[in-house]
Amino acid sequence: MVNCIWIKQISKEDIPLVGGKAANLGEIAKNNFPVPGGFVVTAEAYKLFLDKTGIQKEINQILEKTDISNTDQLKSSSEKIQNLVLSAEMPTEIKLDVQKYYKNINTGTGITTLPAKAANLINIGRDLPFIAARSSATAEDLPEASFAGQQATYLNVKGQDNVVKAVHQCWASLYTARAIYYRETNNFEHAKVYIAVVIQKMVNSEKSGVMFTIDPVTNDETKIIIEAGFGLGDAIVSGAISPNRYVVDKNKWLIMDKKMPGQDWMFTRDINTGRTKKQALSDDKSKKQVLTDGEIIALAKLSRKIEKHYGNPQDIEYAIENNRLYIVQTRAVTTQKKVEEVKEIVKEKIEGEVILKGLSASPGVGIGNVKLVHGLEDLNKIEKNDVLVTKMTNPDMVPAMEKASAIVTDEGGSTCHAAIVSRELGVPAVVGTEKATEILEENKIISVDGSSGKIYSGKVEVEEPKEEITVEDMNIDTVTKIKVNVDLPQALERAKATNPDGVGLVRLEFMIAEKGVHPAKYIRDGRQQEYTDFLAFRLKNIAESFEGKPVWVRTSDIRSDEYRELEGGNIDDKESNPMMGWHAIRRSLDEKGILKAELNAIKKLREEGINNISVMLPMVTHVNQVNKTKEIMADLGLDCDLGIMVETPAAVEIISDLANTGIKFASIGSNDLTQFVLAVDRNNAKVQNLYNELHPAVLKQIKRVIKNCKKLGVKSSICGQAGSNPEMVKKLVSFGIDSISANIDAVGKIRKVVSDEEKRILLDIARNN
Ligand code: PEP
Ligand code: MG
Repeated sequence: MVNCIWIKQISKEDIPLVGGKAANLGEIAKNNFPVPGGFVVTAEAYKLFLDKTGIQKEINQILEKTDISNTDQLKSSSEKIQNLVLSAEMPTEIKLDVQKYYKNINTGTGITTLPAKAANLINIGRDLPFIAARSSATAEDLPEASFAGQQATYLNVKGQDNVVKAVHQCWASLYTARAIYYRETNNFEHAKVYIAVVIQKMVNSEKSGVMFTIDPVTNDETKIIIEAGFGLGDAIVSGAISPNRYVVDKNKWLIMDKKMPGQDWMFTRDINTGRTKKQALSDDKSKKQVLTDGEIIALAKLSRKIEKHYGNPQDIEYAIENNRLYIVQTRAVTTQKKVEEVKEIVKEKIEGEVILKGLSASPGVGIGNVKLVHGLEDLNKIEKNDVLVTKMTNPDMVPAMEKASAIVTDEGGSTCHAAIVSRELGVPAVVGTEKATEILEENKIISVDGSSGKIYSGKVEVEEPKEEITVEDMNIDTVTKIKVNVDLPQALERAKATNPDGVGLVRLEFMIAEKGVHPAKYIRDGRQQEYTDFLAFRLKNIAESFEGKPVWVRTSDIRSDEYRELEGGNIDDKESNPMMGWHAIRRSLDEKGILKAELNAIKKLREEGINNISVMLPMVTHVNQVNKTKEIMADLGLDCDLGIMVETPAAVEIISDLANTGIKFASIGSNDLTQFVLAVDRNNAKVQNLYNELHPAVLKQIKRVIKNCKKLGVKSSICGQAGSNPEMVKKLVSFGIDSISANIDAVGKIRKVVSDEEKRILLDIARNN
C-alpha cells in the first residue's frame, strides 16, 4: 500500500495508481528532465480512506436514490456526499505521509530519497513552498478514462495542514454534481473510480521562456532558438512582451545571434498570496541580456537531449528559479507543414456522410438516436443520449433538452432560444437547418457536430477542435472584468467553475418557464406573493453562489410567441411581430404588478442580507421607462443599483440621456441590437446569412455606447452572444469596455483573449512612448 509517491518515481504505466495526469509528469521527470518537484497522494491512499471510514456504502445508498435528471436532487446528493467525505476523518497514516512528503518537497524529489533525518535537517528553517494540488482521477479496469477537468484544483496552497485539507477537498470533488452526472451518463461505476492528488511546487520563475530545437520559421535543423524573458513565462507565451532571442548552432554549440529588444515589466508571483502580479523593471534590468551565455548553452544542450529522447523536434517551455532550471512542458514542434498535415488527418476522420448542415449553436459532438418532437406530447419519448430534433425548442422543452446528447432545430439563429439554452446546458446543438424535421428519420443514429454545424448519418468519429483552458488560465487577472451569464439553476455549478468576476445577466424567463406559469397569471389571480417568493428562492441560490460579486438580474423579457404556452399565457394572442412587440420593460410597465413582484423578490433578498444583486431593465427605448422604474423602486423601498440593457438603436442614440437618469451600468444586448440595426430577425433561419454582430454598423453603435458610458461614469458591459466571440471581444477591449459577460462554455477562452489583448494594448502604448 503506497499512500504517497514522488513524481520522479512514477512511470507512464502507473495510471491505475496515480491517474493519467500524474503518470505523464512522471514520465518526463523519470527521464531526468527537471520538472517542478512534487509527489502524488495515490489512488491507494484514497481507497484506504474509503476502507477505514466505510463511507462508500453510504455514498452508494445516496447515489442509488438520486435521479440525476432532477437537478435539485443531484445537487443535494452531491452536497451530502461531499460533506460525508469531508467530515470523515482522514486516516492518520495518510495524513502523516502527506505531511512528511510535503515537508520534504524541497529535497526529496527523487529515487534516492534522503534518510528522513537528513531530509528533516535540510528542511529545518526552510520556508515550505506554495504548492498546487491537482486531482488526477482514474478508473478501475479502464486506465485511459479521461476525467480531465472534472475534479478540483487548488493553487497557492501552503502549510502542512492546508495541504492535507486540499487533498481531502480534492477527494470530495470526486462527487461534484458535474462529476456524478458525467459518470452516470457515461456509464462509469462510481465506486470504481478513484482519485489521486498531484502536489507540485509552484515555480516563481525569475527568468523563463520557450525553446525550439529547430528554427520554427525556416525549419533549419542545425539551429536551436531560445526565447527568454524576466519573470513568469505567461508574458512571453502570450506575446505580451518581446523576448530576447538567441540562435545557437547545434553542432558547434556556439551562440550565432542575439536579439535583445528590452523588457519594461514582468509578471511575478506575490510571495505572500502566491497570486500573479505585474512588476516594473528598473532601467538597468530592462536592457540586460536575460540569460547569461552559460545559461544559453546549458539550455540548448538540454533541449537537444529532450529532442533525442522524443525522436522529433520539440517546442519546450522552461523556467529558472533560484538558478535552477525546470521544464514545464514539452511537445512536438508543429511547423507550418505539420499543421497542414494534421488538418488533413482531421479532415479524413470527419468525412462521414454529411446529411444536413445548419448553424453552429453550441459546441461539442453528440451522437444518438433521432427523436422527432412535433409537440409537447412527444417530449416523453426523449431518453438519455437521444438527439432531440424539432422545429424550434421552447421553454417547456428544457428538461428534455438536458437529457439529450444533441439538439437540432429547423429554425433559429445563433441567439435563438435553442442556442442559448443548449450552450448553457453544455449540450451540442445545430440550429437553423431549415429541414431537420423533414430529413432526419425517427430512431436513426446520427452524429451532430455543434462546432461546425454539420450532421452526419451514423456514428462518426468527429474530431472536436480542442482549446485547452488550464487552471492557471482561469486565474489570469484582467483589467476588464470577466463575468458569466447564468439563467438556469442546472448550470450553476459549471458557471461557478469558470471563476468569473460576477454574473452579467440572469434571465428570469428560463426559471419562469421551468415553473410553467405565466407571470401575468400570478398577478391576475392575486398570487403576486407566490411569484415573488418563487423568484427570491431561485435568485438566492445564484446570489449566494457568487457571494461578494455583482449579480445583474434582468426583469422579465417574455416574448409572446415563446411563452404563450405557459399556464395563463394568452394562446390566442398572436402578435404579428413578437420581436418588436409587447415584451420586456414596455410590458412590465403596462402590467406593473409583474414588475413590482419581481422587484420585491430582490427586496426580500436584501432584507435577508443578500445585497449583491442589481436590477437590469431589458429593451429600453425611452428615458421615462427608466424614470418610472426608479419611482416604483423608491415606492417599494428597494435601494439597489439599477442598470439597463442597450438592445435597440434608440437606446444607443439616447445613451447619454439614459446615463443621466442615474443608472449605474449599461449592458449591450448584442443579440437584439444586431437584429434591430440590421433588420434581421434573429429567429429566422432564412436570413441568418445576414446576421453579423461584427457588421460595421453594429460595431459603431457598440463603440459609441462604451465611449459615452465612460464619459458619464456609467459602467459598460455586454451580455449578448457577441461577448463570447473572440473577434468581437478584442474590439470591445480596445473600445474600453468595463466588463464582458460570456456564456459558460466561453468564459475561459474569453478571459485569455482579453488578457492577451490588454497586454497587446499596453505593449503598444509602451512602444509608442
Ligand atoms: C441580447 O439581446 O443580447 C440579450 C442578452 O437578451 P436576450 O438574448 O435574452 O434577448
Ligand atoms: Mg435581448
